[in-house]
Amino acid sequence: MKEKQRTLFDDAPVEAPWEDQEESPVAVVVFGQGARGAFHYRVPEEMADAVCPGKRLEVPFGRGNRPRIGYCVDLLWQRVSGDRLKSVRRVLDERALLSPTMLKLTAWIADHYLCEWGQVLEAVVPAGVRRQAGSRWRIFVRATVAAANLENLKLTAKQRKVLEILTREDRAWDPRDLAAASGCKEGVLKNLVLRGWIRKESVRVREGKLGREVFARQAPLALTDEQRTARDAVLEVLRSGKHGTVLIQGVTGSGKTEVYIQAIQEVVSYGRQAVVLVPEISLTPQTLDRFRSRFEHVAVLHSHLTDVERARQWEWIASGGVQVVVGARSAVFAPTPHLGLIVLDEEHETSFKQDETPRYHARDVALQRAMLENVPLVLGSATPSLESWHGAQSGRYRLVKLSRRIEDRPLPAVRTIDLREPRGKRGDKGAITRRLDAAVRQALAQGGQVILLLNRRGFATHIQCARCGYVVRCPDCDIALTHHRSEATAMCHYCDYRVPAPTRCPECRFEGIHFSGLGTERLEAEIRARYPDVACLRMDADTMRSRGSHEKALEAFRRGEVRILLGTQMIAKGLDFPNVTLVGVINADTALHFPDFRAAERTFQLVTQVAGRTGRGDQGGEVWVQTFDPENPAILAAVRHDYEQFAAWELPNRRSMHYPPFAQLIRFVLHSVRQAPARLAAETLAERIRQEWANAANGEALFRLLGPAPAPLAKLRGRFRYHFLIQTSDGERLRRAIRSVLNDVRLPEEIACTVDVDPIDML
Ligand code: ADP
Ligand code: ZN
Repeated sequence: MKEKQRTLFDDAPVEAPWEDQEESPVAVVVFGQGARGAFHYRVPEEMADAVCPGKRLEVPFGRGNRPRIGYCVDLLWQRVSGDRLKSVRRVLDERALLSPTMLKLTAWIADHYLCEWGQVLEAVVPAGVRRQAGSRWRIFVRATVAAANLENLKLTAKQRKVLEILTREDRAWDPRDLAAASGCKEGVLKNLVLRGWIRKESVRVREGKLGREVFARQAPLALTDEQRTARDAVLEVLRSGKHGTVLIQGVTGSGKTEVYIQAIQEVVSYGRQAVVLVPEISLTPQTLDRFRSRFEHVAVLHSHLTDVERARQWEWIASGGVQVVVGARSAVFAPTPHLGLIVLDEEHETSFKQDETPRYHARDVALQRAMLENVPLVLGSATPSLESWHGAQSGRYRLVKLSRRIEDRPLPAVRTIDLREPRGKRGDKGAITRRLDAAVRQALAQGGQVILLLNRRGFATHIQCARCGYVVRCPDCDIALTHHRSEATAMCHYCDYRVPAPTRCPECRFEGIHFSGLGTERLEAEIRARYPDVACLRMDADTMRSRGSHEKALEAFRRGEVRILLGTQMIAKGLDFPNVTLVGVINADTALHFPDFRAAERTFQLVTQVAGRTGRGDQGGEVWVQTFDPENPAILAAVRHDYEQFAAWELPNRRSMHYPPFAQLIRFVLHSVRQAPARLAAETLAERIRQEWANAANGEALFRLLGPAPAPLAKLRGRFRYHFLIQTSDGERLRRAIRSVLNDVRLPEEIACTVDVDPIDML
């Protein structure tokens, strides 16, 4: 409160040293790189109309007054004496790149995620828009005389014709268009320029067209009762004209997308736009077609667009010509002029968090934006994040459930296979147990398709000497190399370091070096050996490197050319294939023992989501889950498709351990090529923050600092990493403390420091 008053007081013109002077506009400018904080520049009179918040300005910077480009974020009216402020040199943009709301949103991001406002703006406005990709300067012409004065000029008939056209309305013409419209050659124009009756000017013109395909339109489906209730919950918020968040917890195959679509139809009927955010991986043609067959103008934003394509989509959206924007994470910044609704599908997906500065989470940004624009936010998932679930439990969000699949299809039966039984007794060789093998054969015999999930790439997950126990590791990262047999390499999954797979132990020269552990590549070999006549396809980061390969693979599976689809979590998500009658999870525990407080949640989500890929057609479906830990509550709940059971078990753990959703987390990682300085920097910084908090604390709010300690990934790309984690119940105050420390502390040049607010990646 005190602080607020002080700022108010500061702004008030209590002192007026230049009483006789008038107030003049001052632009507040932030920069995308380098300079921190905001800078003030005087706006020269001739630019007063052109300068406004949201445009970029060229300004003199530093002692040498080098020209620099920054974003105007605010316009103040102040009394300034002539030489106190430097002046704006140039306005770069014709139209504001950011609306006042988007400026507020980006300011919130900078504040919440502890980064610079300019950095956020740079990330929000696509590079292609900043460079004005897909457009270029062209020479246009404009009349210098008014229509009324034409009578007084001595003109040829052709010249008169041209000038009549030019003076009809006040605009510049493309010479080619003008020549065509007047029936004159361009020589006539040149002559008019020479006489000074028309002048040339440079105009930015766009090139190319938006590739817009036409889709067969589809009528809305008749909603089930549950779907109607869900849609009405969204419409109620929409019609209230206020913000509200609706969490749709709908089992896999319950028809969430249809609910979004029908809510959006109402949004569109008001002449407003909807933004639908989906994980990058589900931006398949299948998903897009569902929207394109229902709405005429659908813009798409994903990471495979070129700069020019992205700039095009962005401008199209900004022009108001779009009804629905479908996109991945960054589409939360889509410049819709009249936003009506934001939807986040598969809201639990970790890919909504950006893993570089600004480290924002699209879900939290979407919530802020929806609040700023007074529109509903819809979160949908079969396995909501515990953060969102808690939001609904505590009454901040409205919860609607879709508990049944479309057409009352049953959820598939899920059973576990206990891998702890000795192999001999199970009678298994390889990764597929006898029971799972029987299920695969049966499914294939009945004409069904099979999905097998293994959340690990490569052939063997580690390479170890059977005599001395030496494990082959990446020299730059603290991690065992994975054997990729098809390329005969040992590969680091973090930095892509590759060496030929060793034939003998690099340490003791023993020739019996083992390739052990199981990856998707080895699983594929086993499947091909077991079912030699069955077409199978592996989908993981190795086989899906090229653009479009993901779509191609799914298409082959859809057409039935592929009978067995195996892969990493990539195949667990959002796919809707009616003919899949069996899902097998090769090892449900791969994520369970990660040093991450969300390990159980991830495991529950993964098993539930992949189980949801079956039983979507008339033939039903079943799921077999192989695990070393069949009694684990996360796995037990997934077997029962029981989200609430899982949440009821996991939330008390989170509460007692002070993890989200019950406390806020901020994680620091300090890294350097040298180990000791990295450790020292972590210790120094942690201590300073602890002190700063203690100085300001009122003793009630939670503050726990865990670490510093070597990060689970203690070495990455040749850099040693130390981390610490702060848990707090007062994020605002912690941020203030951190900001003040970061402004104050000078870390050595060699140290890099990342601050991750609300971290997802705990490695
Ligand atoms: P979810 O996103 O909840 O997993 P989907 O939206 O993919 O579910 O819907 C599953 C399938 O059911 C889709 O093929 C969809 O076209 C179909 N579907 C959805 N709603 C209806 C409805 N009301 N009537 C008939 N079919 C529907
Ligand atoms: Zn590495």
